[in-house]
Amino acid sequence: MPELPEVEVLVRHLAPLLHDRTIRAVLVRRAKVLAPTSARSFAQVLRGARFGNLARRGKYLVFELRKPGLREPLPLVGHLGMTGRMYLLPARTPLPTHTAVVLHLGCENFVFEDTRYFGRLTLDTSALDRLGPEPLGERFTMARFSRALGRSRQPIKVKLLDQSLVAGIGNIYASEALFRAGIAPTRPARELTSAQAARLWSAIRRVLREAIECGSTVPLNYAGAGLHHGLFYFGRAPGAPDFYEERLRVYDRAGQPCYRCGTPIKKRVQAARSTFYCPRCQRGEH
Ligand SMILES: [Zn+2]
Repeated sequence: MPELPEVEVLVRHLAPLLHDRTIRAVLVRRAKVLAPTSARSFAQVLRGARFGNLARRGKYLVFELRKPGLREPLPLVGHLGMTGRMYLLPARTPLPTHTAVVLHLGCENFVFEDTRYFGRLTLDTSALDRLGPEPLGERFTMARFSRALGRSRQPIKVKLLDQSLVAGIGNIYASEALFRAGIAPTRPARELTSAQAARLWSAIRRVLREAIECGSTVPLNYAGAGLHHGLFYFGRAPGAPDFYEERLRVYDRAGQPCYRCGTPIKKRVQAARSTFYCPRCQRGEH
């Protein structure tokens, strides 16, 4: 499932490809992904619009659209959900089965494909209002993070998935950050010592930065459905060298030895999501 680094890598990839391109026509195959925008108003607004900047907020892509006669740019908000992909295809290439939305750009199409239709491509921006600070931004300070944890009885792993605490962290990076910080995922957020909160704050930033850096430097195949490669949600580009290196230290490694101490990695379910951790490295009380 895509989290902040995957979305950031996708934004960096798409931004130059979409910039200044005009949407000539709109095809909506799954109106569910536009909700609450209707297919009709979606098509009406997008037709004739031109792509401006593309940015990321949490796990959302925020496309800026410019339209003749409109002084302010219109935001178009995208979310990959669990299985969504966004990429450009030559106009003559047949559309994939699970195509949700197509924006015709002339010789190419912008395709939003989503096998499970949990993703979004909508003119409704309300989801952005509920997001907390960007983990790599200046507003996400150690003091603010520590204060927010102090108000929560939730297990720290569950609290990290709260997008109003910090935007963009999902199941994978929550487990990875807790391992790097040496904190048990079940520990109530408010019981973290200030040293633990500080370690976790830096671990979150480090693990996300590393993932973005790695994803930005390897050739990825954004349309390559099902070709998950290592940490990445996107597939490897055909013919690209194997870039795999072991960077997930606990996620999806249940039963395998911890890289640090050799103890088998454990898996448990918290709030209906899987958590992976090392019972030895992450038992620390300090
Ligand atoms: Zn260990």
